[in-house]
Amino acid sequence: MMSQYLALKAEAEDCLLFYRMGDFFELFFDDAKIASACLDIALTARGEHEGTRIPMCGVPVHAMEGYLARLIKAGHRVAIAEQTETPEAARKRMGSKALVNRAIVRVVTAGTLTEETLLDSRSANWCVVIGEAGGQVAIACADISTGRFDVVESDPDRVGAEIARLSPAETIASDATGFADLANVLRPRADFDSAGGEERLKRLFGVATLDGFGSFSRAALAAAGGLVAYLEHTAKGSLPFLRPPSLSQTDAAMAIDAATRESLELTTSTAGARKGSLLDSVDRTVTGAGARLLGADIAAPLMDRRAIEARLDLVRRFHDDSGLRESVRAALRALPDIGRALGRLAAGRGSPRDLGQLRDGLDGAWRLGERLGAIADKPALLDDLAPMLRGHGALIDLLTRALVPEPPVDAAQGGYIAEGYDAALDDLRDSGAGGRRAIAALEAEYRARTGIGALKIRHNGVLGYHIEVPARAADALMAQDSGFTHRQTLAGVVRFNAPELHDVALRVTQAGAHALAAEAAHLEDLTVTALDRREPIAATADALARIDVAAGLAERAAEGGWARPTLVDHGCFEIEGGRHPVVEDAVARSGGRFVANDCTLSESSRLWLVTGPNMGGKSTFLRQNALIAVLAQAGSYVPATRATLGLVDRLFSRVGASDNLARGRSTFMVEMVETAAILAQATPRSFVILDEVGRGTSTYDGLAIAWAVVEAIHEDNRCRCLFATHYHELTRLAERCEALTLHHVRAREWKGDLVLLHEVADGPADRSFGIAVARLAGLPPATLKRAKAVLDKLEAGRAKTGGLAAGLDDLPLFAAVAEQEAAAVDALRDALDGLDLDALSPREALDTLYRLKALA
Ligand code: ADP
Repeated sequence: MMSQYLALKAEAEDCLLFYRMGDFFELFFDDAKIASACLDIALTARGEHEGTRIPMCGVPVHAMEGYLARLIKAGHRVAIAEQTETPEAARKRMGSKALVNRAIVRVVTAGTLTEETLLDSRSANWCVVIGEAGGQVAIACADISTGRFDVVESDPDRVGAEIARLSPAETIASDATGFADLANVLRPRADFDSAGGEERLKRLFGVATLDGFGSFSRAALAAAGGLVAYLEHTAKGSLPFLRPPSLSQTDAAMAIDAATRESLELTTSTAGARKGSLLDSVDRTVTGAGARLLGADIAAPLMDRRAIEARLDLVRRFHDDSGLRESVRAALRALPDIGRALGRLAAGRGSPRDLGQLRDGLDGAWRLGERLGAIADKPALLDDLAPMLRGHGALIDLLTRALVPEPPVDAAQGGYIAEGYDAALDDLRDSGAGGRRAIAALEAEYRARTGIGALKIRHNGVLGYHIEVPARAADALMAQDSGFTHRQTLAGVVRFNAPELHDVALRVTQAGAHALAAEAAHLEDLTVTALDRREPIAATADALARIDVAAGLAERAAEGGWARPTLVDHGCFEIEGGRHPVVEDAVARSGGRFVANDCTLSESSRLWLVTGPNMGGKSTFLRQNALIAVLAQAGSYVPATRATLGLVDRLFSRVGASDNLARGRSTFMVEMVETAAILAQATPRSFVILDEVGRGTSTYDGLAIAWAVVEAIHEDNRCRCLFATHYHELTRLAERCEALTLHHVRAREWKGDLVLLHEVADGPADRSFGIAVARLAGLPPATLKRAKAVLDKLEAGRAKTGGLAAGLDDLPLFAAVAEQEAAAVDALRDALDGLDLDALSPREALDTLYRLKALA
């Protein structure tokens, strides 16, 4: 057994091995230590291996899902080794000391789950694969719980952002890739070969060419092929459930990198939960599939104006007609998750209940389709969606005839095929029921015959049907000629068999077994029939999700008084009465009122410098505008009274280091790396918010860096930008940057207390309120007094010397510095171009080097 175990363990590589032994899955050696610690179950020992006791722990087979869930959640992968023959078969093969054959039948990983209990119904479960070929990169991602399969061709520098968008359960790359640090599973390079990938895809979809799915780059083939190979590996050769791939480019969506997603808390809050995120605060969907789609929409706002308008038209239809919205949402709420039911059936782990869910879900979809098909003023998107909801009539009929109203999850007990569907099955059930009636009659007869009123006919797994009498009454039945055979004596009762009972019992059991087999055959046939239509069923599930998203967004908009955004082609950003949905909720919960603020960026005022006291509302203002851009391009109404914006191609949000101390890295370094990324990537169509950048270092450094970053964004990137800072000195930039304007959050001192108005107004803040904020925070009066004295001294000094920014007015303009730099580079290049290296003597070469150095 040990050698069989070790061979399987070698095959399982770095996965924990669940080794089936009867009613348990056992783990040994280090696996046992890891699992017992993670699951909090007893670690024991068993036998010896190379002179030491073997650590061991086990989980009961019937409770395996719960344990698996915890291991997967803790980041482990688990290989399941099942017994592939019965102990009897093994004995027949090998004699009494037989060892049953075992094999790994499945590798359970976070990215390849289909079990309802292991998945969150409201988020997608992405398995992501990075593929490369010829300098190009592509990302293939699948959610096999629904069969969704996307392939995105990406710039190498957008791979990280793309993965952040998907927030995958599992990321896989080749062990020979440069992207290994983004992956948590590395697979052999051969799995990512583009030619092999093409073959695998053709085999999976049974096609001679992939042209029907789009034109795949070699990198796309490598990624998609690597994904199929991984899924085959985890399912041990059986083909995964994947719908035909949908191919896209990363620039179809607004680019949002990982740091920006984190700081804006788009789909998860900083604490890592869905609660507190933008997604959570806009989500009013009523189905799991709707919630998953909304998450995907918010993670990838669109760049295609027509597609955005189409979504918005649908939201508006539901927004303006609350009766329609209510009835659609009520209908959706009652529907089961057909996408995931289909996923389980396709993965071979389906149950009668999954078929029942398909029946009910498709039936509900059909009725919704009828209703939506008939409404007036139908938006174009609905013209596309409504027909997708119908068209499963034959399958619905079949499942309605075949299944009982509420089929069970467990097929083993039978009872899920409806009466009247199969006459032969009905007969078997009748004879089983007749047998059970006959047994009841026998019980009455035996009681009469023996005169023992307490005699019962019972059933258990060991004896089958048997007669049971109290021990004190057993003697009469023990007699040789009583017609009863003794089977078992327990403390209070004695058990017997009898020939008539034996015959009837045999009939009952056989009819039961045949009925079960007949039901199982029907289950299989029905599953095959349903899976024949998997593509249109999945399309129906998608259509339902899209309707749920639109109706949910309409509900949210109506609830919050949100407005439909207007999208334009030029680079404006005009928000009237904008609000931050998450902060607004929090403020309202604590009894306050959120103050709405305008933001109007245009060609002549594309960079806003926002100053004002801490806690004054700067961060909130910055973020709410970034969130409005995300919502608008995701096809949602926005929390504002009016919004007009030009499409944003890239969105960046950075927060000065000290807000991020929790990350525990060299935070200033992180801040600078992230800021560098913005300067390198932001285009004139981008939107950037920078919150206290430069704060993570000493005052002089910080001011200098903030100054230079603002100049660079203004002169080079020329994007729309909101920049919050407490460096009052930066306001001087307004004099040299023509498209930079000054704004501040208002505050007032009233009877010695600071009142924060959370109102954004034009112009610079007139003073710093640090000490007032310190009072608000409860610093002791003596300390405050002392601080005030120090401040007065410093301010007197500043007035005399010109302060921190003394001398900055003499700085050459940023553009001039850049020009000087460019001129120097040109001069160097010219000098190099003019050189004929072969004609130089060593002496001349040295002279030339000196000349070049002087030019630089
Ligand atoms: P700052 O970035 O200026 O330090 P924040 O944006 O973090 O300030 O806001 C601090 C707090 O003020 C928020 O947590 C919120 O409770 C409140 N706040 C911010 N903006 C508003 C607003 N527009 N209306 C009402 N309260 C606000």
